[in-house]
Amino acid sequence: MTNENRKSVFIQCPTCLKNGKIEIPRDKIEKKASGLSLIIVKKLICEHVFLAYIDKNFTMRESEEVYFVPSPQIIEKSKKIKEEFFDKNELDLINLNLYPLTLNYILKSLMNAKAIGIVLEERQDFLKTIYEKFLNFLFNNTFNTQYQIILDQEYSEAKEELNLPIIVKNIEIIKDNENFLTDVEFAVERGFIQKFYNDEYGLETLRALKFEINNAFLLAQSTKEFIENTKKLNLNKVIKFLEKEFNINIDVKYAEFLIGIVKNYYNVEVGNLYKNVEFMKFKKLSK
Ligand SMILES: [Zn+2]
Repeated sequence: MTNENRKSVFIQCPTCLKNGKIEIPRDKIEKKASGLSLIIVKKLICEHVFLAYIDKNFTMRESEEVYFVPSPQIIEKSKKIKEEFFDKNELDLINLNLYPLTLNYILKSLMNAKAIGIVLEERQDFLKTIYEKFLNFLFNNTFNTQYQIILDQEYSEAKEELNLPIIVKNIEIIKDNENFLTDVEFAVERGFIQKFYNDEYGLETLRALKFEINNAFLLAQSTKEFIENTKKLNLNKVIKFLEKEFNINIDVKYAEFLIGIVKNYYNVEVGNLYKNVEFMKFKKLSK
């Protein structure tokens, strides 16, 4: 292979913030139908593995950790879910246009009762109904969600009237009134999303993503009731309760994720439960 087929791209690790140049195949970026290409960087500039989003000018737009928290499995795969109304073409369009990072932002917002606006480019008009169908399918019978999918033009005209605290466009966070998306941890959602966009991508992985959301909803509901009815709470008590109740193992970060939902979605005072999380993280680090 000659050098002309490769181009160097300046990238930055999301974990240690180290910069560096890597060589990537030119055609991988140029052939891509939609705007950004996703490449996986495995210990090339530092000791970490991460995803980098590269645009057509060979500039890194964003990078994302691949680390994720394992989620507990509590629901048996039910055959009741109807997903036949998704055809292969629609699933391919989601795969091609909806970036993992964007889906991360959307799931996090919707599971925490934050209304989100998803802005599409004019040429992506056809995606509107597909995304709606996709999100309605994912959240049906679980979280009540509030979102709006709008085209670029519509957005610039209605900016002021839109009562949405969070707005994203592709991987860009255009608006985030409370700094919600900038301050949270995505490790659990990342696990959901990696199950969805894996090598077997299709109806099966779509179903897997829906199950994760179902599980999270069910666990968050129980966590909420437990928090409301328990005195002298601490994180360990919450974890012990869930493990016993559902016969599962719960990662500390997954518990933190559930407490976030209890706080934001159910509006329940969670007191110093977060402090415990910080303490446990510290304990883990100092071991
Ligand atoms: Zn690094």
